[in-house]
Amino acid sequence: IYILGIESSCDDTAAAVLHNASILSNVVATQEVHQKYGGVVPELASRAHQQNIVPVIDQAIKEAGITKDQISAIAFTRGPGLMGSLLVGTSFAKSMAMALQIPLIEVNHMQAHILAHFIDDASERKPNFPFLGLTISGGHTQIVKVEDYFKMSVIGETLDDAVGEAYDKCGKMLGLPYPGGPLIDKYAHEGNPKAFAFTKPKVDGLNFSFSGLKTAVLYFLQREEKKNPHFIEENLKDICASFQHTVVNILLDKLKKAVNETKIKEIAIGGGVSANKGIRAMLKEQEQKRNWIAHIPKFEYTTDNAAMIAIVGHYKFLQKDFTDSSISAKARYSI
Ligand code: ATP
Ligand code: FE
Repeated sequence: IYILGIESSCDDTAAAVLHNASILSNVVATQEVHQKYGGVVPELASRAHQQNIVPVIDQAIKEAGITKDQISAIAFTRGPGLMGSLLVGTSFAKSMAMALQIPLIEVNHMQAHILAHFIDDASERKPNFPFLGLTISGGHTQIVKVEDYFKMSVIGETLDDAVGEAYDKCGKMLGLPYPGGPLIDKYAHEGNPKAFAFTKPKVDGLNFSFSGLKTAVLYFLQREEKKNPHFIEENLKDICASFQHTVVNILLDKLKKAVNETKIKEIAIGGGVSANKGIRAMLKEQEQKRNWIAHIPKFEYTTDNAAMIAIVGHYKFLQKDFTDSSISAKARYSI
């Protein structure tokens, strides 16, 4: 089975070809235009997708070493995401499937962040059902109980900002270029995590809240900068390390709670923020400390990519779970 996956939910245009569960190509065109605005501008994202989609798909097919008529089905991201961005991938996938007369498969982007673990080279071993998915990305923060490929339910999620959003907003306050997440992670590694204390939000159950942390950082920086206008530059690494330390602890607290409640000790992380070194290290540590089994995907399968869309396509293909060309994109689309 050869599946072409297409992803265009936010600001990355991506295409990948999968042969069964093994990757033949995985192409991502990251849009640079948003950097100078400090965040994704939906209208520009949509336009850039329109420019990128044909060359990206061409390249993915070429790198896979196959011809178009070998493709068994086309899988595309239906949602969640930015409507203008989703529409580009959705309409392209529809017309291409129609032209090639092959099945069309719709994919939920958040399910894909979890099922990415089933790509052959995603990590050392594959998760066993049931497991807990921790999806941490630019738009979501969820704990998902995964009982089977398509039997999953959200058991906890953020009530306000997503973790990635908190990282990016904190990055902005620190004067870092967008997206701030990877840079904060890098500096955090070189700083002292105990230098500054930020209080953890109190949220019941398995839900999260990150907007309070963001505000705490903002007020803290304003206060310190009043005393010393060079506070940020002089303490950048320590601020990043302390912020990251707080985030890691928030995630760990909720994971402990989720493991306790579900008795499931197998955890798979996904989404852009799962590239984070601090979070990865924390999970590794818990494997030793609490006998958890942690699944940590390769970097290229954490941030948005089309390989994860194609693997979902693969499993839906096996179930003959196809869709027709009347399907439309869905900006809000829960798991
Ligand atoms: P969603 O998947 O919820 O629709 P998205 O697709 O925009 O959102 P992803 O591409 O999955 O999000 O993730 C992007 C986010 O990941 C950004 O907020 C970015 O800052 C964050 N991120 C990437 N690498 C790291 C890192 N090493 N540490 C922390 N955050 C990171
Ligand atoms: Fe994503």
